[in-house]
Amino acid sequence: MKWLILLLALWPVFFIQPPGPTPVPDTVTVGYSVRGMPIVAERFGDGPMPVLLTGGIHGGYEINTVVLMSELGAYFHEHPEAIAPNISLYIIPVANPDGLLRGRGFAGRFNKNGVDLNRNWGCGWLPEAYAGSAHVNPGPAPFSEPETQALRDFILELQPLAVVWYHSAADGIFPGACDGIDRGGSAWLAGRLSRATGYPTGVPFNLYHYDVSGTAPDWVDAQGIPSVDLELSSRKDTEFARNLAGVMALQCHFAQLAAPGWHVDNLYAFIEQHCEAEWLSDER
Ligand SMILES: [Zn+2]
Repeated sequence: MKWLILLLALWPVFFIQPPGPTPVPDTVTVGYSVRGMPIVAERFGDGPMPVLLTGGIHGGYEINTVVLMSELGAYFHEHPEAIAPNISLYIIPVANPDGLLRGRGFAGRFNKNGVDLNRNWGCGWLPEAYAGSAHVNPGPAPFSEPETQALRDFILELQPLAVVWYHSAADGIFPGACDGIDRGGSAWLAGRLSRATGYPTGVPFNLYHYDVSGTAPDWVDAQGIPSVDLELSSRKDTEFARNLAGVMALQCHFAQLAAPGWHVDNLYAFIEQHCEAEWLSDER
């Protein structure tokens, strides 16, 4: 009798496991900060086409980008149907966890070594770097920091179709281009996001603001992957609605690019439900 009760109690465990592929974990530890804090990517959807969104590379100083990533994550948790069937959306809420711990002041930009992680990448790196009129530490060499090494390796392995780095608060979208050459199509990505979000694009950051060097989008674009810095308009709000529109517009573009043998009906249904007409017209 005891055995029968035990068998009934464990019945779901042993017998009701559905057959099928092993589920892919929906969080990935990308690497660790200088302090040893994990850098975590959350994955939404399991399509073959990855897209990567990254907040908080400037830590607590731009904390609204971290909150925006969390809000987008919560939205897609609640609305899994808002992920295109051919997309895997990866969200890294905090690319610079050490900086988040350093608080919301200017020091919150940097990792525990005091390095600005958006001046530490392998294209156009300079030993003298700036944020506004302030000198910032770009690290002793490109990719000197564990955070940029981890993000670099993750991107090279994932080969995403696009990488968006969220910042605040220069109010604009700035495409990557190593040595001024757009290899990955970053200007295209900036234009698409600009039309959906309303953030302006088209004027180089260096003309608008100040010289930047060794940035993440420049290096990512050099790998043939479109990438932009998207700067929110303030350091306070997440500007959620317009940024959700940007992510949806991006998905709608890629939903049109069905892989051979893909379930086209599912993609058509997604496009019909989630995509506005102007998000679908495209020059590329
Ligand atoms: Zn920033």
